Amino acid sequence: MSDIEAFMNPSKPLRCFIRDDDGGWDDDKLLRLLRAFADRGLPIDVAMIPIATTSALALRLQREDLNAAHGIGYHQHGFAHLNHETQGRKCEFGGSRSWPMQHADIADGQQRLRDLMGSALDPIFTPPWNRCLPQTLSLLDELGFAAISTIKGSALAASAPLAQIPVTIDFQKRSNGERLQWPEFCGYANKQMAGEATVGIMLHHQTMTAEDFQHLFELLAGWQRSGNVEFCAMRDLLPACAVAAA
Ligand SMILES: [Zn+2]
Repeated sequence: MSDIEAFMNPSKPLRCFIRDDDGGWDDDKLLRLLRAFADRGLPIDVAMIPIATTSALALRLQREDLNAAHGIGYHQHGFAHLNHETQGRKCEFGGSRSWPMQHADIADGQQRLRDLMGSALDPIFTPPWNRCLPQTLSLLDELGFAAISTIKGSALAASAPLAQIPVTIDFQKRSNGERLQWPEFCGYANKQMAGEATVGIMLHHQTMTAEDFQHLFELLAGWQRSGNVEFCAMRDLLPACAVAAA
């Protein structure tokens, strides 16, 4: 069986969630993506950038019923999605930021999103570039977050006081700066999914091409048909006590 066939037809039961990052950027494209998920009865979660989330966007999402009733969840992403590191990998919550600065960013972002989105907001945090300091997790815990979402293989996995809801597959995966072609991508995705009972797919709507949309919805339709995939929202993966407190 080819990598593409194996990816499109999962032979074992899987749970799957989809996390789209960078809510607040390219609102029209975000709404198109969310509408496409709602129309297909598929859940999706959006990591919202607090400073980029406008009241106009919050109103549009509300008016179009793009909400939990249609399986759509929202949670907090990086405050301004800025890289503060002068060396090494990009990071908004890294070593160049003091504890008070990190605290202010996360607390202010949380307040802003709560004001704009109310109960639509889930107690989940996705750090930009899927990374932050281990100490950032204590801040999140203190501020009432129940889970952090990074990516499979993240160094944070073993050290978190919070629940972990890592994504498994970067749908727009690059290698040496170039997007993987679909057959190569399917090979990468199969490797990432090996041994996983729950698979998270990470999207960035802003940079998705028409071809990405087509591949994504062909894939998800195939998984729906297979009967082997249970689609869920990220909030369904939170510990039960966190859901009761939210
Ligand atoms: Zn991001």
